[in-house]
Amino acid sequence: MAEAARDVDVVVIGSGAAGLCAALAAAEQGAARVLVAEAEGVVGGSSRLSGGLVMGAGTRYQAALGIEDSGAELYADYLAVNRWDVDPGIVRAMCDHSGRVVDWLGDLGVEFHRDLVKASDERTPRVHVPKGRGQAIVDTLHRHCRERGIDIALGQRVDRLLTTDRAVIGVAVGGDEITAGAVVVATGGFGNAPEKLAAHYPSAAATERAWYIGADGARGDAIDLAGQVGAQLVGHDHGLRLLDVGFDRELEAFLPGWLVMVNRQGHRFVDETAPYGVVDTLVRAQGDRVWVIFDQAALDAAPAWGADQFLYTVPGHRQTQSRHWNPDLVAMMQAAGLVRTADRLDSLAAQLGVDPTGLAGSIERYNESCRAGHDEQCRKASRFLQPVAVPPFYGAELRPATVCSTAYGLRIDATTRVLGVDDRPVPGLFAAGECTGNVVGPSYFGSGNNYANCVTVGCLAGAAAAHDATSG
Ligand SMILES: Cc1cc2nc3c(=O)[nH]c(=O)nc-3n(C[C@H](O)[C@H](O)[C@H](O)COP(=O)(O)OP(=O)(O)OC[C@H]3O[C@@H](n4cnc5c(N)ncnc54)[C@H](O)[C@@H]3O)c2cc1C
Repeated sequence: MAEAARDVDVVVIGSGAAGLCAALAAAEQGAARVLVAEAEGVVGGSSRLSGGLVMGAGTRYQAALGIEDSGAELYADYLAVNRWDVDPGIVRAMCDHSGRVVDWLGDLGVEFHRDLVKASDERTPRVHVPKGRGQAIVDTLHRHCRERGIDIALGQRVDRLLTTDRAVIGVAVGGDEITAGAVVVATGGFGNAPEKLAAHYPSAAATERAWYIGADGARGDAIDLAGQVGAQLVGHDHGLRLLDVGFDRELEAFLPGWLVMVNRQGHRFVDETAPYGVVDTLVRAQGDRVWVIFDQAALDAAPAWGADQFLYTVPGHRQTQSRHWNPDLVAMMQAAGLVRTADRLDSLAAQLGVDPTGLAGSIERYNESCRAGHDEQCRKASRFLQPVAVPPFYGAELRPATVCSTAYGLRIDATTRVLGVDDRPVPGLFAAGECTGNVVGPSYFGSGNNYANCVTVGCLAGAAAAHDATSG
């Protein structure tokens, strides 16, 4: 559509981190008129509720700590964790630009803690922790949007893409139509749409304990918009779930290291302190039902162990106790029938529905590892090795019931163009963030993966959309 005839250069659908980054990048790239349409009455979507930890490789923050890193190294780690089951083109673009975009956030005024954390099990810490969590990032981006004259229209839920031939030329909210040179879809996930969860992320909807931690606006509108223009949707059953005991709605990403996790056969299958994205994948392979076992001695000692019981703690997050696995909560969960207790392991196994022979053997071997100070089987760090030997013994079933994010959605190419079912880009249509389906893979890479998709791919999408809109 000719520049003069259209209402704006770029419309961005959604005001989360992906949308705000896209809007700012579009303006920086020369789009004079940028509009953000936001369905809810508040800016920020899940991004503002988020911890805001963001993964970036080759940043100035890493350099200040003497950490050498690069997009190429992040890319190699990312493909390995996902066993190449992502689209390498866009993933490589995200990895290569991730460091620059974290630095850009810093230039805009986002303050990061000096210490970095690891996203997953990689060698290099590359996760940047913002002071003030995701809300601070959203506030900073929002302020810059205002300063640049980017309109953010609240309460405007886009329900239609305007098209001519194959090309997208704007958006509509009911009868209100806005024409544009390019459109960026940044509508987030679909955790708040139970029917879409059941259809596209069935392993998150399968447990009756499932609960979603994100924003109300996460209704998967990108999936509906995709249907209007014949866009590809990929990433079936991908996302991130965390283990949950079913007692309350307290998010707990990391389990304390003194817990022993077993499957229905009573066998250990993982280092209980492994990164949560990896644990999610391995728990899925166990039929999504696992149990934790511990004894009275560990429960009594837990408060004194404090932060030492976690693999690592996040700067600025002063958590010294497990939210669930501390004496007070265990007593409450026991009263609620969610934690079982017995003086003998075989009676505990019977109550839990776990194989008693397997559990007895596994705990015996685990206790031997504790005495030896070396977890030969699962290689959990020796500082976490506490024997399960002092009755009463405790056990509880955990389910992957906390739904953190979804990763089924629009397939984009290496330049963030939405691909049609004919495998050609849909002209005028770009996407970024949680509404995409080929950036976050089957194994959630780790802390900061989603936010990297939002801010980095968001910036790429905004710049590409502006280029499209202003170069015609
Ligand atoms: C509690 C919590 C903690 C988290 N912690 C982390 C973390 O530390 N690091 C990390 O990487 N990830 C984290 N995540 C995940 C991450 O924050 C999200 O995946 C990410 O912020 C999603 O950003 P987005 O811009 O794609 O979508 P959102 O931020 O959800 O924004 C999408 C916006 O689009 C709007 N919208 C939807 N449909 C329409 C429509 N039709 N028209 C107009 N507007 C529409 C929505 O209302 C919403 O405001 C966390 C998530 C939560 C909830």
